[in-house]
Amino acid sequence: MASHIVGYPRMGPKRELKFALESFWDGKSTAEDLEKVATDLRASIWKQMADAGIKYIPSNTFSYYDQVLDTTAMLGAVPERYSWTGGEIGFDTYFSMARGNATVPAMEMTKWFDTNYHFIVPELGPNTKFSYSSHKAVNEYKEAKALGVDTVPVLIGPVSYLLLSKPAKGVEKGFPLLSLLSSILPVYKEVIAELKAAGASWIQFDEPTLVLDLDAHKLAAFSAAYTELESALSGLNVLVETYFADVPAESFKTLTSLSSVTAYGFDLVRGTQTVELIKSGFPAGKYLFAGVVDGRNIWADDLAASLSTLQALEAVVGKDKLVVSTSCSLMHTAVDLVNETKLDSEIKSWLAFAAQKVVEVDALAKALAGQKDEAYFAANAAAQASRKSSPRVTNEEVQKAAAALKGSDHRRATNVSARLDAQQKKLNLPVLPTTTIGSFPQTVELRRVRREYKAKKISEEEYVSAIKEEISKVVKLQEELDIDVLVHGEPERNDMVEYFGEQLSGFAFTANGWVQSYGSRCVKPPIIYGDVSRPNPMTVFWSKTAQSMTSRPMKGMLTGPVTILNWSFVRNDQPRFETCYQIALAIKKEVEDLEAAGIQVIQIDEAALREGLPLRKAEHAFYLDWAVHSFRITNCEIKDTTQIHTHMCYSNFNDIIHSIINMDADVITIENSRSDEKLLSVFRGGVKYGAGIGPGVYDIHSPRIPSTEEIADRISKMLAVLDTNILWVNPDCGLKTRKYTEVKPALTNMVSAAKLIRTQL
Ligand code: GLN
Ligand code: ZN
Repeated sequence: MASHIVGYPRMGPKRELKFALESFWDGKSTAEDLEKVATDLRASIWKQMADAGIKYIPSNTFSYYDQVLDTTAMLGAVPERYSWTGGEIGFDTYFSMARGNATVPAMEMTKWFDTNYHFIVPELGPNTKFSYSSHKAVNEYKEAKALGVDTVPVLIGPVSYLLLSKPAKGVEKGFPLLSLLSSILPVYKEVIAELKAAGASWIQFDEPTLVLDLDAHKLAAFSAAYTELESALSGLNVLVETYFADVPAESFKTLTSLSSVTAYGFDLVRGTQTVELIKSGFPAGKYLFAGVVDGRNIWADDLAASLSTLQALEAVVGKDKLVVSTSCSLMHTAVDLVNETKLDSEIKSWLAFAAQKVVEVDALAKALAGQKDEAYFAANAAAQASRKSSPRVTNEEVQKAAAALKGSDHRRATNVSARLDAQQKKLNLPVLPTTTIGSFPQTVELRRVRREYKAKKISEEEYVSAIKEEISKVVKLQEELDIDVLVHGEPERNDMVEYFGEQLSGFAFTANGWVQSYGSRCVKPPIIYGDVSRPNPMTVFWSKTAQSMTSRPMKGMLTGPVTILNWSFVRNDQPRFETCYQIALAIKKEVEDLEAAGIQVIQIDEAALREGLPLRKAEHAFYLDWAVHSFRITNCEIKDTTQIHTHMCYSNFNDIIHSIINMDADVITIENSRSDEKLLSVFRGGVKYGAGIGPGVYDIHSPRIPSTEEIADRISKMLAVLDTNILWVNPDCGLKTRKYTEVKPALTNMVSAAKLIRTQL
């Protein structure tokens, strides 16, 4: 009877670690205070898993910031600019790498596969010196042991570590990072030896890069690494854990022939081919860690279905070699359902957060061993049945409308250049029109108004008048600045997805369903549990109000279907594209209502469209097809004279530029200021782009105020590759996180730069 958990959330059920970290960073508490919170969290997690009956409990999945950064610390691979002089790496150096300090910027952060978690990218080169410099893995193993819990220490595997790193500054781009394998393995050997000496009998290497498209050279690195570690690992049970997709067939062969490895962990939720792969050939005598319980979502497991999958696998690998596990670390789901006291009880019965998933894993393992908890399984089956038949899940009208979309194309009847002409006749904009992305600074006062309204401490009347007041300030400011296409500033919105989710049917919200995004930052995704519909207009009142305050065009401001989908916990009882089409139909109604209310420019943000791109290239086309289709559905039936904008928070879309064009928006505004060259190279490469485009002319993530000259220079560079009549001038993204003292001068300079260039045309 064996059960295993790949990893567990670190933040704590009430984000205890977040608050401890932030207070430490602010100098309000000591390192000891922070360590105490961390120690208590780890202890409670180990105890919880031990109490539940989990056999293989992970350690070293805790982190003060990020597990990849922990590995960088373990290897002593500190970039030179942090002036680290050796010895055990302490908070100072560690947090400087993570967040930068007064004199040195932080290391780069990037998305962890296709999750919303971000890791700190190692910076390596031929001169990087590796030395064993953080004993965290061993310390945590010992710490658990002292509490009476014998854990499986978890390390990021050496090959994934290198494949996830980038050449350090000054190192040539093509530097073969895998050539560093022989330099880092000695450190791994030291760690392994210490773990053995401390009493560990198992070790887990996370090698998630095995699910990516890997060429033969990269695959060979896995064989080389685990062969080189073979003698160090002898006497230990070695688990190589993969997650987020199935392992491609070729890689599966390489992986399962590693002789130093005794156990393999696979994702059976996202890895749709995994069961077939295992059936087609799993090495005799090795353990299979079967990840049946979904680590990336909040739904209760369908225990009967999982049990039958497990029984089939048991027949392949043998009874004593099957271990029940999670599909990936539970850090990608919410922490504990117990704290959701306000959630509707029927919906709650359909859910399982990390703490509940631990219990599910254990129950499945016991059932396999003939100790099925009948009452627990019966309750689970009842919840599954209620989810299938609940009227709050199914809305036949929505299902029919979404089904009718399939197979047919939805796009505006007229082509984009003719539409732009028609729009220009109405809008009469100058060349290089100026605009902003939507949000204006959210002051403490504004947040207080929203909070008090939500808590029913102020009346609707008071709330509406406060928001109107704010909109009118933002409108006046933009008129003073002489911006051409205005926004209302989004003062009524807390979050660009939550705001819409709260007004759509089929969405639920948690009080504490936080998931770590990076460092101390967490997000609280809405839960899409049912068919999505829009009972009432969501933004029309505010947009109309704002438009009535000015004679300039006021942009309606919506979040697009793909972004709403990608930033939510999505139902798992129908394909993602079906849920996306439903959201698209709801947004379509909103777009049409805005148009009917006289709004001539409507922006539909698709900030997260690229984030949803599947890990493997073979799956890109299908995703892009339905994602782009969903976007087009939202505006396929509006007039030529209504101008549709979209906005994206990244510019590295060389690979998906044709899909972006295929969205058929009239104008696209994009983040650009930190990557000018990347974006411009797309157009320099000869891609035909006929729609309006506004590559951000300054970085809103920084408090720095760009000068008129600097912005003008940027615009000139863009004009070298883009037609004058399609270029827009705007910041990178929304201004929500900035202060008015930064926004006013920055926008002043932006408008002067546009005017300056206009005179030179
Ligand atoms: N309209 C949103 C805003 O300005 C867009 C935010 C985003 O792209 N993340 O805040
Ligand atoms: Zn953005």
